[in-house]
Amino acid sequence: MIVRMRNPDATHQLSGPLSVGEMLERLDVLPHTVLVIHDGELVTADHELPDDAEVEVRSVISGGAAGSSCVVCRVPAVIEEPRHRAAWCPDHFVEHVQRQVRKAIDHGHGLADGERMFSYDDRLLVAVSGGKDSLALWDVLLDLGYRVDGLYVGLGIGGYSARSGQTCRRFAERRGATLHEVDLAETYGYTTPSGASVAGRSTCGVCGLSKRYVFNRVAVDQGYDVLLTGHNLDDEAATLLGNLLRWHDDLLARQGPVLSGVDGRQARKCKPLYRLSEREMAAYCVVRGIDYVVEECPLVAGNSGHEQKAALDVLEAGSPGVKAQLLFGFLDRQERVAASAPSPGADVGSCQRCGMPTTTDVCAFCRQRERILAALPVLPSRAAV
Ligand code: AMP
Ligand code: ZN
Ligand code: ZN
Repeated sequence: MIVRMRNPDATHQLSGPLSVGEMLERLDVLPHTVLVIHDGELVTADHELPDDAEVEVRSVISGGAAGSSCVVCRVPAVIEEPRHRAAWCPDHFVEHVQRQVRKAIDHGHGLADGERMFSYDDRLLVAVSGGKDSLALWDVLLDLGYRVDGLYVGLGIGGYSARSGQTCRRFAERRGATLHEVDLAETYGYTTPSGASVAGRSTCGVCGLSKRYVFNRVAVDQGYDVLLTGHNLDDEAATLLGNLLRWHDDLLARQGPVLSGVDGRQARKCKPLYRLSEREMAAYCVVRGIDYVVEECPLVAGNSGHEQKAALDVLEAGSPGVKAQLLFGFLDRQERVAASAPSPGADVGSCQRCGMPTTTDVCAFCRQRERILAALPVLPSRAAV
């Protein structure tokens, strides 16, 4: 059989028949770190693979164990989630994902009594990268009937950006949804790689600041009520651990699935996937037939978030649910102290260059952009913003 591993990519030939569990053992792969796809279907550890099988093994992070029939309808399960001590068939797994998103929207951490992340009257903008999380989020919200458009930011990272943009466009077309696109080079005069080469800070730092700015700018300029991102449980737990390890008090104070906006200049931001793991989101895309970009950003090497994720995976494998306990436990405690915190936006002024909210004279994005443009050769396409 031919086994194609994705992320990192490799191809292996094995002789069969073998069960999925045996195949993974031969490849020295921990079952709970991957999703196995055979004939377009997600398969579990006891599924038999014939000698001529072609199998894809997708790396995803988070914990798993055996469980082979759907907890709702008892037909064979396609995914298990030890954190919930459950396994599901495709239809009931989709329901599970929708239920978790519903719970985040209606009763998520950081919401006051009766408050929701957003309502059916709100115009929502979801930032889509072409990856599994943000496309799955868009898909779930469309299915739940929300008014939600997409935003893709072209970061100029070669073929990776080209494929990501294509994937978002195809998804939007398939769902008949509206996708906004902003190209960083066309609109702001630099790409993530060119900016990072002269900005004197990490690639992910330049990229993150640029994305956050563009997300907010589009949301505000186009009159959206709420900006959504696809951050999942693994992302949030890893960020939390990183912030705890370095005691970034300011970031810890702001970490959460809901960030309120500032009077028409800063959109409210929400993360409706914070209750769902990376592995669940990958499985959702496979079950729903959503084509997503599996490859990782080629510039991400050395990004410290990966270390935190790897460390949490080791803990999760030994104690399923420990990631969620860390994150939700923190958010529970944060809610208890929130009442005494100063209201956000109290000391926020306007950037002298672009008018967007900032606590300094010129916002961090405009300062970074000025440094980058001063050091880069002038591009003919650079538009004044
Ligand atoms: P990341 O910072 O790459 O982990 O991505 C976090 C979230 O930011 C994703 O789930 C998306 O919602 C959003 N995002 C990342 N990259 C892009 C992009 N190029 N365009 C639009 N949204 C993005
Ligand atoms: Zn079922
Ligand atoms: Zn500015």
